[in-house]
Amino acid sequence: MPDLRKDPIVGRWVIVAKSRAKRPHDFQTTPSLHTGKFCPFCEGQEAQTPGEIIAYRRAGSLPNREGWRVRVVPNKFPALEIEGDLNKRGDGIYDMMRGVGAHEVIIESPAHVLSTADLSEHQLGEVFWAYRDRLVDLKKDHRLVYGMIFKNVGAAAGASLEHTHSQLIVTPIVPITVREEMTGSLEFHRYRGRCVFCDMIQQELASEKRVVLDLPGLIAFCPFASRFPFETWILPKNHSSHYENIQKNGVEELARGMRQVIAKIEAALDRPAYNYIIHTGPFDSQELGHYHWHIEIIPRLTKTAGFEWGTGFYINPVPPEDAAAFLREVEVESPKPQVLPIK
Ligand SMILES: [Zn+2]
Ligand SMILES: [Zn+2]
Ligand SMILES: [Zn+2]
Repeated sequence: MPDLRKDPIVGRWVIVAKSRAKRPHDFQTTPSLHTGKFCPFCEGQEAQTPGEIIAYRRAGSLPNREGWRVRVVPNKFPALEIEGDLNKRGDGIYDMMRGVGAHEVIIESPAHVLSTADLSEHQLGEVFWAYRDRLVDLKKDHRLVYGMIFKNVGAAAGASLEHTHSQLIVTPIVPITVREEMTGSLEFHRYRGRCVFCDMIQQELASEKRVVLDLPGLIAFCPFASRFPFETWILPKNHSSHYENIQKNGVEELARGMRQVIAKIEAALDRPAYNYIIHTGPFDSQELGHYHWHIEIIPRLTKTAGFEWGTGFYINPVPPEDAAAFLREVEVESPKPQVLPIK
C-alpha cells in the first residue's frame, strides 16, 4: 500500500507508492505513448481493464460488455488504494498516513477517438456528467476530502495511452495547490466581500483582451498572470464553488465551450500535448462564497526548469493578451469526428 508523507516545512503531501517502484534503469528519460494496434480502452476490450465502476450504456447491455458510451474503471496501476483506514501517525517530526484514496479512469468514447474536439457535444456532455457522478458518489466516503479530475494528452503531458480518457484521483487531504487558491480567495473575500474569480470574470468580459470564448453561462480566457504560453481557464459565469453541483444545462454548455477551446488550441498549436485539470471545492465543505470552480488547460509547450522549480516563478514567453487574440481568431470548423479503425 502506498504511503502519504507530509513535508514538515511547507506542508506538501507526497504519495510514495512502492507498487510503482522501478529499478533505476527502468526510468525512461523520454516518455513514450503506446500507439500500437491493440487498445484496452476500445469497445470490445472490456476484459482488459478492471471491472467498471459505472458506465452509461445501451438499455439491456451487460456490465463489462459492449454497448457503453462512457465507462469508468479503476486505474490498473493506482496511485492510491481504496481499501483500509488512514492510520494517521507520526514518526518523530514527520507525519504520514496510509495511501487511501481512489484512482479511476474515465474512458470518454467506445471508439478509438484521440481528441476531446473529435467527440460530439452530446458525448462530451456525458463525460462531464460522469465526472459529476463520480464526485457525488466518492464524496460519501468520509475518509476522503478531495477529488481531482485531470486529463493528460500526449506523451509530453504524461499520457501512456492515446484513446481519449481522463482520470480522477481522490485523496484524504486537500492538495497544496488547491489550499493556496482557497486561502488566497478567502483573504480577498474577507477584504472586499466578493469572490475573486467572479471579479476576474467581470474584468475580463469588460476589457475583452484576454477572452478566448464568451458563451451565455461560460467564459474562457487566458489569465492575466498566465504561467505558461496559451494557458487557458474556463469558468462558469454564475458563482459556484463545487463542480459536482453542475446541472444538465451547465454540462451541455461546458461541453460546447471545452470542445471549441480544445479545437482552437489544437488548430493553433498543431495538436500539442496538454493537460487540463478541474479545481473545485473540497468534499468537506458546502457551497463557499469565496471559491469558484474552474478548468485550467495547460498546453505543454515549455519545460519546467531549474528556475521554476527553485522559485515557483514562471517565465512565460507569450503574453496572455497575444495568446488570447490568436486563439480568438483561429477558425474551427465544426469538427468531423475522427475515428481511427483499430483491428
Ligand atoms: Zn482505443
Ligand atoms: Zn465566484
Ligand atoms: Zn485553479
